[in-house]
Amino acid sequence: MDTQERNSASAPTPLKFIKGVGEHRARLLGRLGITSALELMEFFPRTYISRILNPSLKQMIAGELISFTAQISFIDVHKTPKGKKILNLGVSDGEIGLTCVWFSFPASYEQLFRPGRRVWLNGVLSEYQGKLQMNHPEFELLEEDSEEEGDFWRDRETLPIYPLTEGLSQKQLRKIIYNAFEKHNRDIAEALPEELLEKHNFPDRRTALMTIHFGQDHQKIALARMRMAYEEFFYSQILWARHQMHHKIEVKGITFVNKKHYTTALKHKLPFRLTGAQARVITEIFDDMCSDKQMSRLIQGDVGSGKTIVCLFAMLLAVENGYQAALMAPTEILAEQHYQNISKLLAGIQIPIILLKGGTYKGKSQQKEEIREASGQIIIGTHALIQKDVEYKRLGLVVVDEQHRFGVEQRATLAKQESAPDLLYLSATPIPRSLAMTVYGDLQVSVIDELPPRRKKVITFLRSERKLDIVLQEVRQQLRQGRQAYFVCPLIEESEKKNLIDAQRLHEYLANKIYKEYRVSLMHGRMPASEKDAIMREFKAGEIQVLVSTTVIEVGVDVPNASVMVIEHAECFGLAQLHQLRGRVGRGADQAYCYLIEHVPLSRMARQRLSTMAITTDGFEIAEKDLELRGPGELFGYEQSGLPTFRFANLVKDQGILAIARADAFEIVKSDPYLADEKRKLLKHYYFANYLSKEELILY
Ligand code: ADP
Ligand code: MG
Repeated sequence: MDTQERNSASAPTPLKFIKGVGEHRARLLGRLGITSALELMEFFPRTYISRILNPSLKQMIAGELISFTAQISFIDVHKTPKGKKILNLGVSDGEIGLTCVWFSFPASYEQLFRPGRRVWLNGVLSEYQGKLQMNHPEFELLEEDSEEEGDFWRDRETLPIYPLTEGLSQKQLRKIIYNAFEKHNRDIAEALPEELLEKHNFPDRRTALMTIHFGQDHQKIALARMRMAYEEFFYSQILWARHQMHHKIEVKGITFVNKKHYTTALKHKLPFRLTGAQARVITEIFDDMCSDKQMSRLIQGDVGSGKTIVCLFAMLLAVENGYQAALMAPTEILAEQHYQNISKLLAGIQIPIILLKGGTYKGKSQQKEEIREASGQIIIGTHALIQKDVEYKRLGLVVVDEQHRFGVEQRATLAKQESAPDLLYLSATPIPRSLAMTVYGDLQVSVIDELPPRRKKVITFLRSERKLDIVLQEVRQQLRQGRQAYFVCPLIEESEKKNLIDAQRLHEYLANKIYKEYRVSLMHGRMPASEKDAIMREFKAGEIQVLVSTTVIEVGVDVPNASVMVIEHAECFGLAQLHQLRGRVGRGADQAYCYLIEHVPLSRMARQRLSTMAITTDGFEIAEKDLELRGPGELFGYEQSGLPTFRFANLVKDQGILAIARADAFEIVKSDPYLADEKRKLLKHYYFANYLSKEELILY
């Protein structure tokens, strides 16, 4: 224990003390995020290859994802009539040949591949004109048997494959990592308490890391990896467990009473029946609000699942108890939309509703005075709600729409009101369960997993750019019927502009050539907010028929009359984004359509994204797929959130481990909230050093 504490407290060993690392390589390693000996030892292989075991191509079936090693038989680069280069690489396992094809590739590939060399390949096997083919495989050139005598790796069967950066080869990195362990493995300090290592039969940290790099037994490698994943999950869950404890011990909330006064009135007035999911979620919220704890609940529901009405019931419960209810939306236009909808639904029920806008305007100080003096009202607005000069008399409930669009401090401002209001967060980006547990930890999650009835699924087409003119004619059919259409273009880097149809050019083309008889408007991110708002309003009012835009069209904006969404360069968008964009149509009773315009060549990932979109409209299915394809880092702005990120753990594959780590963490914190027990010394030390600062970032 003593050595471990001393080690973890001392400064990390810089890279330059490692054999084989000079200034130049230290820089290359820096690009991989490695700055110390310890980080080098904690750098995970992305996969392993076996030099001996090798499946033969004969046994393989098209459509499968396979990994194998083979010898390069030929390399051929030719140009298409349009001048695009295509790379064909012939490989053979001694019996059968296969062609790997790249439709786009860096110039260096032409020098890289040499007939006779062995290469490891990983990709989906396909068949083309009766022959085996693999498009855009992952690959790894294997070194000739040139390792010197005495080289550690020479006789090894299982080799780690690391993520690389240009200028650094597998072989070099393997050697450097080996050298790092040889001299500095003492830097690796244990991070898990003895009780947990024993409980799960985990190897100690040093052994685990060595196994991950040098192991030959796949089961042992898997266990070592599991240990590291567990470690990360465990500490992230300690964070949440402590947060929950804090709430239970220190934060008392309002105990509302279900008086069924306004809520029943609303139920009778609704122009539709609540879906089963809506009714269930309302019950979940009411149970929370009627308890003495401060509610902290996330409502997840796909676009159009009807989250607003669910919140309205919660707001009415607060109001009938003599409290204020605030609804905060990320943009003025969304706030206004909520204001209009809610005013309509509450017509005839005497509840004051205030729409508080940003900036200065006539009547604002009057509004602020009402907010300060009166209770029993609903207040809707943007960030305007959390300005310092807005004082609430008796805030009982806070609803945050599109919660991910707000910063931590912004959400906390309302949460920390003296009255300890109940908190409801809305999210239209469905988050898979595993991620919710790590992003939201102890937050209660309600899911509206049912769409209102008779809502037609948006019909989705994948169309090649060459068919764009046909698509434009199909869109015209809709315009003729009085419907409206969105065209969305990706936001483009200046330098790449020439390759892509950008919003401006598409707008010109549509306005001057194709839809001359309609009003076609352009909206993009560089416009001032007021201009965007004005255009959006006109579109909502039906004065504009065709809206061409970059992705700035508001998430959540409701234009039921819009029935077509055309997404140009759909391959450039992520799945979550495509889903959000498609959710802008199909909000009325009419059939809606989405055209995904694709430009070849498509990467494998892009192809999978687009076919997922064509197959399903279920936001949760799409989110799961997105998580699988991209990993959680980029998703949901998680990486920017400052919350723990995972280097070892995989949120898709390691969900089982997450559940175990979570249970352990919550159990420990329950019995020992301050981690004061002597046997938790190491745990406490590690947690305080690495995680404590993150406690304040947590959602309230
Ligand atoms: P979102 O979850 O995307 O915020 P909204 O709350 O804006 O969805 O609701 C989308 C539309 O569906 C609104 O026009 C709303 O009036 C309507 N709606 C909500 N619930 C139902 C229901 N149970 N039956 C029919 N229509 C509903
Ligand atoms: Mg909404």
